[in-house]
Amino acid sequence: SSFGNYIAEGVLKNSFVQQSLSEPIFDGQGQYLGFVAGTIYLQSKNLVSEMLASKYGYKKNYTYVMDDQNQIIFHADPQEIGQKVQAGDGLTTMQQQQNGSFRLMNSKGIDSLVGFSHIPSVNWIVVSQQPIEELFAQANSIIIKVSIGITLFYLLIFFVVWRLSGMIALPLNNLAKMASMLNQPGIQEKINRIDPLYFEVDQFKNSLMLSSQNFNEKIDELNQSVNTDSLTGLYNRRGMKLFIEEFVRMRTEFAVLAVDIDFFKQVNDSYGHDKGDIVLQKLAKVMKDHFRDNDICCRSGGEEFIILMTASNPTTVFHAAERLRKVVEITEMDDMGTVTISIGIAYWPHSSKDVYKVLRIADQKLYQAKHEGRNCTR
Ligand code: GH3
Ligand code: MG
Ligand code: MG
Repeated sequence: SSFGNYIAEGVLKNSFVQQSLSEPIFDGQGQYLGFVAGTIYLQSKNLVSEMLASKYGYKKNYTYVMDDQNQIIFHADPQEIGQKVQAGDGLTTMQQQQNGSFRLMNSKGIDSLVGFSHIPSVNWIVVSQQPIEELFAQANSIIIKVSIGITLFYLLIFFVVWRLSGMIALPLNNLAKMASMLNQPGIQEKINRIDPLYFEVDQFKNSLMLSSQNFNEKIDELNQSVNTDSLTGLYNRRGMKLFIEEFVRMRTEFAVLAVDIDFFKQVNDSYGHDKGDIVLQKLAKVMKDHFRDNDICCRSGGEEFIILMTASNPTTVFHAAERLRKVVEITEMDDMGTVTISIGIAYWPHSSKDVYKVLRIADQKLYQAKHEGRNCTR
């Protein structure tokens, strides 16, 4: 051929496979001057084998080069050099296209991925092959490593978020608990002990301290004599009203226990009004001893009492009421024997959001206790 490249077919000489190449030379006017020719000894060290890996590469990937006669002129396995590529090993695809890739079950029965590219100047094809199994093994190991990495990362993030949210929420939780116990003794020291971790806690803490001081001032106000009943020393209706308003303002949940002495008229009739007064005083003392400091005992009128219990659990409240009823039942009232009481219970805000309705419900429950035989709690 006088134009373009000319590649002579490789021949076997002294058991070496060799590739001879020649290139025509023309002058500026297109006049043929001669040619240069060279031979590559394919199985010895040469330019091609220097450029491509000489052994099986990474993860059983290997590269070979074939010439336009389908003869292998470079291969990782020297035994393969000089062999012809078998028809069917994707040969047609590789001859028809300049470059590309496809999946192939090769002549040795190995399912592989093949990539190829033509070298136009010599019309060789460089082919790279890798068994699918190896690719999957690689991909799987990468997926497993990445999954483990992501899982560990998420666990770490989860742990950090969990600890952080705990740290953020803990002081607020503690303060929120204290907000409903502002009438308890020593609450100011407890509030003060909370670590003001961040601005909001500090703000919350300060406003809670203010409320607590306010509450204490209110308590002092409540302890004034105008709010107490002179006969029993319990809070009177006025005092009771102030406490109820304060509980509602502070959103402190509470129970209302309406207490009434059974057949008290008979006590007056049998022993006289003064003796009746002594019974009222004794009963007031039993009540004060029975309930905690932050439960408010009031004489709401005549022989009727109201206790405001700052406990919202109905079971706790009911048991406290029943204990009082049983203690009263066995308490000797001087020489007048014993009296019994009936109790009606209602809850703010569970029974009603309207606190005066809660008082009425407690009264209705008391009426029910009376109706159902007295000396009982409803
Ligand atoms: P019930 O079981 O239905 O409650 O019967 P009760 O007799 O207790 O009921 P009632 O309401 O009819 O009578 C209450 C009596 O309490 C009438 C009154 O004489 C007496 N009382 C009210 N206030 C006082 C007080 O301050 N001192 C004394 N000693 N008695 C009072
Ligand atoms: Mg009565
Ligand atoms: Mg009564």
